[in-house]
Amino acid sequence: MNLGRSGGEIAQSTGAPGVDWPTVIDPFSLAGRTVIVTGASRGIGAEVARRIAALGGGVVLVARSGEALAELAAELPGPSAAVAGDVADTDTAAAAMAAGEELGGLWGLVNNAGINPYYHPVTETPLSEWDEVLRVNLLGAAAFARAAGRHLAEAGQGGRIVNLSSIAGLTGLPNIGPYNASKAAIDALTRTLAVELGPVGVLCNSVAPGTIGTEMIEGLMAANPALRERLVAKSPLGRIGTVAEAAWPIVFLLTDAASFITGQTLLVDGGRLAAG
Ligand code: NAD
Repeated sequence: MNLGRSGGEIAQSTGAPGVDWPTVIDPFSLAGRTVIVTGASRGIGAEVARRIAALGGGVVLVARSGEALAELAAELPGPSAAVAGDVADTDTAAAAMAAGEELGGLWGLVNNAGINPYYHPVTETPLSEWDEVLRVNLLGAAAFARAAGRHLAEAGQGGRIVNLSSIAGLTGLPNIGPYNASKAAIDALTRTLAVELGPVGVLCNSVAPGTIGTEMIEGLMAANPALRERLVAKSPLGRIGTVAEAAWPIVFLLTDAASFITGQTLLVDGGRLAAG
Protein backbone atom coordinates (compact mmCIF):
# COMPACT_ATOMS: atom_id res chain seq x y z
CA MET A 1 0.00 0.00 0.00
CA ASN A 2 1.50 3.33 -1.06
CA LEU A 3 -0.22 6.37 0.34
CA GLY A 4 2.09 8.87 -1.34
CA ARG A 5 3.38 11.96 0.43
CA SER A 6 2.32 15.57 0.63
CA GLY A 7 2.09 18.19 3.37
CA GLY A 8 -0.71 17.29 5.73
CA GLU A 9 -2.91 15.68 3.09
CA ILE A 10 -5.50 13.18 4.30
CA ALA A 11 -5.75 9.87 2.49
CA GLN A 12 -7.73 6.71 3.07
CA SER A 13 -5.75 3.70 4.17
CA THR A 14 -6.73 0.34 2.74
CA GLY A 15 -4.92 -1.46 5.56
CA ALA A 16 -7.78 -3.04 7.52
CA PRO A 17 -10.69 -4.54 5.58
CA GLY A 18 -14.04 -2.91 6.35
CA VAL A 19 -12.54 -0.03 8.34
CA ASP A 20 -11.89 3.51 7.09
CA TRP A 21 -8.69 4.58 8.76
CA PRO A 22 -8.09 8.28 8.06
CA THR A 23 -4.34 8.63 7.86
CA VAL A 24 -2.51 11.95 7.91
CA ILE A 25 0.50 11.57 5.69
CA ASP A 26 3.62 13.03 7.21
CA PRO A 27 2.08 15.56 9.60
CA PHE A 28 5.53 17.07 10.09
CA SER A 29 5.97 18.09 6.46
CA LEU A 30 6.00 21.79 5.56
CA ALA A 31 6.13 21.15 1.81
CA GLY A 32 4.45 23.95 -0.13
CA ARG A 33 4.23 26.21 2.93
CA THR A 34 5.97 29.54 3.41
CA VAL A 35 6.90 30.93 6.81
CA ILE A 36 8.30 34.34 7.77
CA VAL A 37 11.06 34.13 10.39
CA THR A 38 12.16 37.38 12.03
CA GLY A 39 15.64 37.67 13.54
CA ALA A 40 16.79 34.98 11.12
CA SER A 41 20.37 36.18 10.63
CA ARG A 42 21.78 34.09 13.48
CA GLY A 43 20.97 32.12 16.66
CA ILE A 44 17.59 30.45 17.15
CA GLY A 45 16.01 32.25 14.17
CA ALA A 46 18.61 31.01 11.67
CA GLU A 47 18.20 27.47 12.99
CA VAL A 48 14.39 27.68 12.71
CA ALA A 49 14.80 28.76 9.07
CA ARG A 50 17.12 25.79 8.37
CA ARG A 51 14.65 23.33 9.96
CA ILE A 52 11.67 24.73 8.04
CA ALA A 53 13.63 24.36 4.81
CA ALA A 54 14.66 20.82 5.80
CA LEU A 55 10.95 19.94 6.15
CA GLY A 56 10.27 21.26 2.64
CA GLY A 57 8.99 24.75 3.47
CA GLY A 58 9.83 28.14 1.96
CA VAL A 59 11.22 30.84 4.24
CA VAL A 60 11.12 34.64 4.28
CA LEU A 61 14.17 35.66 6.30
CA VAL A 62 13.97 38.98 8.18
CA ALA A 63 16.72 40.77 10.15
CA ARG A 64 18.61 44.03 10.11
CA SER A 65 21.65 42.63 8.32
CA GLY A 66 20.94 41.87 4.67
CA GLU A 67 24.40 40.35 4.21
CA ALA A 68 23.92 37.64 6.86
CA LEU A 69 20.49 36.85 5.43
CA ALA A 70 21.88 36.45 1.91
CA GLU A 71 24.49 33.99 3.24
CA LEU A 72 21.80 31.93 4.98
CA ALA A 73 19.49 32.04 1.95
CA ALA A 74 22.31 30.62 -0.21
CA GLU A 75 22.68 27.69 2.20
CA LEU A 76 18.99 26.69 2.28
CA PRO A 77 17.79 23.81 0.08
CA GLY A 78 14.36 25.31 -0.70
CA PRO A 79 12.78 28.62 -1.76
CA SER A 80 13.64 31.67 0.32
CA ALA A 81 13.60 35.47 0.26
CA ALA A 82 15.49 37.98 2.39
CA VAL A 83 14.02 41.20 3.81
CA ALA A 84 16.45 43.52 5.60
CA GLY A 85 14.88 45.91 8.09
CA ASP A 86 13.85 46.72 11.64
CA VAL A 87 10.95 44.56 12.90
CA ALA A 88 9.34 47.53 14.64
CA ASP A 89 9.09 49.34 11.30
CA THR A 90 5.73 48.57 9.68
CA ASP A 91 7.34 48.83 6.22
CA THR A 92 9.49 45.79 7.09
CA ALA A 93 6.40 43.75 7.96
CA ALA A 94 4.67 44.84 4.74
CA ALA A 95 7.74 43.86 2.67
CA ALA A 96 7.86 40.45 4.39
CA MET A 97 4.16 39.79 3.61
CA ALA A 98 4.77 40.68 -0.05
CA ALA A 99 7.79 38.36 -0.18
CA GLY A 100 5.66 35.57 1.34
CA GLU A 101 3.08 36.04 -1.40
CA GLU A 102 5.76 35.87 -4.07
CA LEU A 103 6.99 32.57 -2.64
CA GLY A 104 3.52 31.09 -3.14
CA GLY A 105 1.36 32.34 -0.26
CA LEU A 106 1.93 32.68 3.44
CA TRP A 107 1.38 29.87 5.98
CA GLY A 108 3.09 31.11 9.11
CA LEU A 109 5.09 33.64 11.09
CA VAL A 110 7.79 33.04 13.68
CA ASN A 111 8.21 36.24 15.72
CA ASN A 112 11.74 35.50 16.87
CA ALA A 113 13.67 38.81 16.71
CA GLY A 114 14.59 40.00 20.17
CA ILE A 115 17.22 41.84 22.20
CA ASN A 116 18.45 41.64 25.79
CA PRO A 117 21.38 44.06 25.92
CA TYR A 118 21.29 45.46 29.47
CA TYR A 119 22.06 44.00 32.87
CA HIS A 120 21.16 46.06 35.92
CA PRO A 121 18.33 46.41 38.46
CA VAL A 122 15.07 48.14 37.57
CA THR A 123 15.94 50.96 39.97
CA GLU A 124 18.95 51.73 37.78
CA THR A 125 17.29 51.24 34.42
CA PRO A 126 16.60 54.46 32.50
CA LEU A 127 13.32 54.63 30.60
CA SER A 128 15.26 54.85 27.34
CA GLU A 129 16.33 51.21 27.89
CA TRP A 130 12.74 50.15 28.54
CA ASP A 131 11.77 51.91 25.36
CA GLU A 132 14.47 50.19 23.29
CA VAL A 133 13.77 46.66 24.57
CA LEU A 134 9.97 46.91 24.40
CA ARG A 135 10.15 48.47 20.95
CA VAL A 136 11.92 45.45 19.44
CA ASN A 137 10.62 42.58 21.58
CA LEU A 138 6.98 43.63 21.90
CA LEU A 139 6.14 46.25 19.26
CA GLY A 140 8.15 44.39 16.62
CA ALA A 141 6.22 41.19 17.34
CA ALA A 142 2.92 43.10 17.40
CA ALA A 143 3.68 44.77 14.05
CA PHE A 144 4.36 41.42 12.39
CA ALA A 145 1.43 39.66 14.08
CA ARG A 146 -0.89 42.43 12.93
CA ALA A 147 0.26 42.19 9.33
CA ALA A 148 0.39 38.39 9.22
CA GLY A 149 -2.91 37.96 11.09
CA ARG A 150 -4.72 40.17 8.58
CA HIS A 151 -3.02 38.51 5.65
CA LEU A 152 -3.79 34.96 6.81
CA ALA A 153 -7.40 35.81 7.72
CA GLU A 154 -7.99 37.30 4.27
CA ALA A 155 -6.40 34.33 2.50
CA GLY A 156 -8.78 32.03 4.41
CA GLN A 157 -6.47 28.99 4.45
CA GLY A 158 -5.64 29.06 8.17
CA GLY A 159 -2.09 29.50 9.37
CA ARG A 160 0.27 29.74 12.33
CA ILE A 161 1.93 32.37 14.47
CA VAL A 162 4.67 31.34 16.90
CA ASN A 163 6.06 34.00 19.22
CA LEU A 164 9.38 33.69 21.04
CA SER A 165 8.78 34.14 24.72
CA SER A 166 11.23 33.10 27.48
CA ILE A 167 11.24 31.61 30.95
CA ALA A 168 12.24 35.20 31.82
CA GLY A 169 8.59 36.15 31.29
CA LEU A 170 7.47 33.63 33.90
CA THR A 171 10.00 34.42 36.64
CA GLY A 172 11.57 37.48 38.23
CA LEU A 173 15.12 36.99 36.94
CA PRO A 174 17.07 39.97 38.35
CA ASN A 175 18.80 42.66 36.28
CA ILE A 176 16.80 42.19 33.07
CA GLY A 177 13.50 43.84 34.03
CA PRO A 178 12.52 45.24 30.61
CA TYR A 179 13.30 41.92 28.94
CA ASN A 180 11.23 39.97 31.51
CA ALA A 181 8.30 42.34 31.05
CA SER A 182 8.53 42.13 27.25
CA LYS A 183 8.33 38.34 27.34
CA ALA A 184 5.40 38.26 29.80
CA ALA A 185 3.65 40.64 27.40
CA ILE A 186 4.43 38.31 24.48
CA ASP A 187 2.57 35.50 26.26
CA ALA A 188 -0.44 37.78 26.77
CA LEU A 189 -0.29 38.82 23.11
CA THR A 190 -0.17 35.14 22.13
CA ARG A 191 -3.30 34.25 24.08
CA THR A 192 -5.16 37.25 22.68
CA LEU A 193 -4.17 36.39 19.10
CA ALA A 194 -5.22 32.78 19.66
CA VAL A 195 -8.70 33.83 20.74
CA GLU A 196 -9.11 36.47 18.03
CA LEU A 197 -7.74 34.41 15.13
CA GLY A 198 -8.93 30.93 16.14
CA PRO A 199 -12.24 31.37 14.27
CA VAL A 200 -10.32 31.85 11.00
CA GLY A 201 -8.10 28.84 11.64
CA VAL A 202 -4.96 30.72 12.58
CA LEU A 203 -3.29 29.09 15.60
CA CYS A 204 -1.00 31.17 17.85
CA ASN A 205 1.43 29.89 20.45
CA SER A 206 4.53 30.98 22.33
CA VAL A 207 7.71 29.01 22.84
CA ALA A 208 9.60 29.91 26.02
CA PRO A 209 13.18 28.67 25.92
CA GLY A 210 15.42 28.43 28.95
CA THR A 211 19.09 29.24 28.39
CA ILE A 212 20.18 28.49 24.82
CA GLY A 213 23.77 28.92 23.63
CA THR A 214 23.49 31.84 21.20
CA GLU A 215 25.39 35.09 20.75
CA MET A 216 22.72 36.89 22.78
CA ILE A 217 23.34 34.71 25.82
CA GLU A 218 27.12 34.44 25.31
CA GLY A 219 27.22 38.26 25.34
CA LEU A 220 25.35 38.41 28.65
CA MET A 221 27.57 35.70 30.16
CA ALA A 222 30.78 37.36 28.99
CA ALA A 223 29.68 40.52 30.82
CA ASN A 224 28.71 38.52 33.93
CA PRO A 225 30.95 35.44 34.34
CA ALA A 226 29.09 34.13 37.42
CA LEU A 227 25.89 33.97 35.39
CA ARG A 228 26.80 30.84 33.37
CA GLU A 229 27.54 28.86 36.55
CA ARG A 230 24.29 30.03 38.15
CA LEU A 231 22.19 29.12 35.12
CA VAL A 232 23.76 25.68 34.68
CA ALA A 233 23.54 24.92 38.41
CA LYS A 234 19.77 25.45 38.30
CA SER A 235 19.23 23.17 35.31
CA PRO A 236 18.18 19.55 36.04
CA LEU A 237 19.99 18.57 32.83
CA GLY A 238 23.13 20.36 34.02
CA ARG A 239 23.70 22.26 30.77
CA ILE A 240 22.38 25.00 28.56
CA GLY A 241 20.40 24.07 25.43
CA THR A 242 21.45 24.11 21.78
CA VAL A 243 19.83 26.16 19.03
CA ALA A 244 18.50 22.95 17.46
CA GLU A 245 16.81 22.02 20.75
CA ALA A 246 15.07 25.41 20.75
CA ALA A 247 14.23 25.32 17.04
CA TRP A 248 12.48 21.95 16.70
CA PRO A 249 9.60 22.70 19.11
CA ILE A 250 9.02 26.02 17.31
CA VAL A 251 8.88 24.23 13.96
CA PHE A 252 6.62 21.53 15.40
CA LEU A 253 4.02 24.22 16.18
CA LEU A 254 4.01 25.16 12.47
CA THR A 255 3.10 21.64 11.35
CA ASP A 256 -0.14 19.67 11.05
CA ALA A 257 1.02 17.63 14.04
CA ALA A 258 0.11 20.68 16.19
CA SER A 259 -3.31 21.37 14.66
CA PHE A 260 -5.22 21.42 18.00
CA ILE A 261 -2.75 23.52 19.98
CA THR A 262 -3.39 27.24 20.34
CA GLY A 263 -3.02 29.92 23.01
CA GLN A 264 -0.24 28.01 24.77
CA THR A 265 3.23 28.80 26.05
CA LEU A 266 5.47 25.79 25.49
CA LEU A 267 8.43 25.72 27.87
CA VAL A 268 11.64 24.45 26.29
CA ASP A 269 13.93 24.86 29.27
CA GLY A 270 15.42 21.47 30.11
CA GLY A 271 13.28 21.38 33.27
CA ARG A 272 14.69 24.64 34.63
CA LEU A 273 11.35 26.03 35.90
CA ALA A 274 10.25 22.66 37.26
CA ALA A 275 13.30 22.80 39.52
CA GLY A 276 11.91 25.96 41.19
P1 NAD B 1 20.41 36.50 18.88
O1 NAD B 1 20.84 37.77 19.47
O2 NAD B 1 21.43 35.46 18.60
O3 NAD B 1 19.59 36.77 17.53
C1 NAD B 1 18.60 37.76 17.50
C2 NAD B 1 18.16 38.01 16.08
O4 NAD B 1 17.20 39.08 16.11
C3 NAD B 1 19.29 38.46 15.16
O5 NAD B 1 19.06 37.93 13.89
C4 NAD B 1 19.11 39.97 15.13
O6 NAD B 1 19.61 40.56 13.95
C5 NAD B 1 17.60 40.07 15.18
N1 NAD B 1 17.13 41.38 15.61
C6 NAD B 1 17.38 42.00 16.78
N2 NAD B 1 16.79 43.20 16.79
C7 NAD B 1 16.15 43.33 15.60
C8 NAD B 1 15.35 44.34 15.01
N3 NAD B 1 15.10 45.51 15.64
N4 NAD B 1 14.86 44.14 13.78
C9 NAD B 1 15.12 43.00 13.10
N5 NAD B 1 15.85 42.00 13.62
C10 NAD B 1 16.36 42.17 14.84
O7 NAD B 1 19.24 35.95 19.82
P2 NAD B 1 18.72 34.46 20.14
O8 NAD B 1 19.37 34.02 21.39
O9 NAD B 1 18.78 33.62 18.93
O10 NAD B 1 17.21 34.79 20.52
C11 NAD B 1 16.14 34.66 19.60
C12 NAD B 1 14.83 34.84 20.37
O11 NAD B 1 14.74 33.84 21.38
C13 NAD B 1 14.70 36.19 21.07
O12 NAD B 1 13.37 36.65 21.00
C14 NAD B 1 15.08 35.86 22.50
O13 NAD B 1 14.51 36.76 23.42
C15 NAD B 1 14.49 34.47 22.64
N6 NAD B 1 15.11 33.68 23.70
C16 NAD B 1 16.44 33.37 23.68
C17 NAD B 1 16.98 32.63 24.72
C18 NAD B 1 18.44 32.24 24.77
O14 NAD B 1 18.86 31.70 25.79
N7 NAD B 1 19.22 32.45 23.72
C19 NAD B 1 16.18 32.22 25.80
C20 NAD B 1 14.83 32.56 25.79
C21 NAD B 1 14.31 33.29 24.74
